Amino acid sequence: MNKQDIVIVGSGCAGLFAALQFPANRSITMITKETIEHSDSFLAQGGICVLKTPEDYQSFFDDTLKAGHYENRRESVDIMIRSSRDTIRELIGYGVDFARDSDGSLLYTREGAHSNPRILYHEDETGKEITSRLLQQVRRTRPNVRILENTAMVDLLCRDGQCCGIVARCADGSYTTLPANYTILACGGIGGLYAHSTNYPQLTGDGLAVCMEHGVALENINYVQIHPTTLYTKKPGRSFLISESVRGEGALLYNARMERFADELMPRDLLTAAIRLQMEEDGTEFVWEDLRPIGEETILSHFPNIYSRCLEEGYDVTKECIPVTPAQHYFMGGIHVDENSRTTMARLYAIGETACNGVHGKNRLASNSLLESLVFAKRAALHITEHYIPLRGPAPAVDFSAYEPADQLARTRKARILAEIERLDHHGNQ
Ligand SMILES: Cc1cc2nc3c(=O)[nH]c(=O)nc-3n(C[C@H](O)[C@H](O)[C@H](O)COP(=O)(O)OP(=O)(O)OC[C@H]3O[C@@H](n4cnc5c(N)ncnc54)[C@H](O)[C@@H]3O)c2cc1C
Repeated sequence: MNKQDIVIVGSGCAGLFAALQFPANRSITMITKETIEHSDSFLAQGGICVLKTPEDYQSFFDDTLKAGHYENRRESVDIMIRSSRDTIRELIGYGVDFARDSDGSLLYTREGAHSNPRILYHEDETGKEITSRLLQQVRRTRPNVRILENTAMVDLLCRDGQCCGIVARCADGSYTTLPANYTILACGGIGGLYAHSTNYPQLTGDGLAVCMEHGVALENINYVQIHPTTLYTKKPGRSFLISESVRGEGALLYNARMERFADELMPRDLLTAAIRLQMEEDGTEFVWEDLRPIGEETILSHFPNIYSRCLEEGYDVTKECIPVTPAQHYFMGGIHVDENSRTTMARLYAIGETACNGVHGKNRLASNSLLESLVFAKRAALHITEHYIPLRGPAPAVDFSAYEPADQLARTRKARILAEIERLDHHGNQ
């Protein structure tokens, strides 16, 4: 394919927001492994954090660090919080409809480990609202952005230690190179590597795999968040999340004797540990979650998606408890990047869940990831724009047979990433 100015791998909120920040004369190709609506960004339920008032800065900062076990990069947290109001303004400008009261003022909800309500939301489908508006904006206003669905990056194109594009498997199973002056990896988390996850199964850490193979630095890839509450079922497939904002609004957890056993608003990692201990003590595969304290009216208006999905599974959450169990949910580690989302390879950037800019430390504070993804996606695009220098010379030739058979390559890469996570878990992040 013709050389592009920029190639973006992934069409979640990070990839789309980055695409919107480039000047309209830049040629951009965005590829996505499946259909465009199949990204985790569409699944986000709870909401997106914002600095509600200047007075909330220190509390927001402290909550993020405390949840992250003080392993966060403080300068990244500062950037995220200070950029949050402009980011929300930009989203509202694209038509994102956050919940408001009858006066038209924004409403804020609360989730675990937040000292104050500072989370904007759209029912319990905030991610769908944000990401579909970003997609609409790209489609309507950016003829310079070409989107290729069912197209998967399988490798980086590299020459003289610089990234000069990617190798991709096309929808028809053939391979192609996509040469580019700059490459942005926005390929999401790693839930597809796990048997039980809230993520889409195609999110298999492909960005990590290719970076490992090319010696691009990774950071804390064993920092994997398990969400304490997903709907328990024996059916196979993606685990359905019962958002933390349900607990923020008053839902309670019970053991097998229908007694409370933990503070429902503890940080995710601590609550997950408490639930696992309780399940062991009770000899069960789940604990109970009771949404009734929230009240029927709020359940139906704030959590209509959770209500109807549980109903499909045979539970009316306005009348009865539901069984919940922990599942893999989020990836705090990733491809190491600086405050402008630059990786350790020239001309290669990483944004969103696949990147690690240190905002989340060892454990993400609820509703910080949409915000972090957007803030650092914008910084990547602005940095590229400001320092733009076209790459000279042809892209390297590629032997496509190295990527066949595709399922074997996927298995090898999965085993390599999981082995590295296990190694770090046992020997630490040295
Ligand atoms: C159920 C659920 C609820 C959540 N709720 C919240 C919430 O309330 N608030 C919050 O802040 N965060 C929430 N999160 C987390 C948040 O949604 C994600 O961290 C965020 O959307 C990540 O955005 P992204 O653009 O980095 O990745 P994604 O949205 O996952 O997009 C990744 C993209 O990369 C593509 N891709 C992957 N590999 C390749 C490849 N090899 N080639 C081409 N394309 C590829 C995928 O197809 C996809 O388009 C939630 C996550 C889940 C799963």
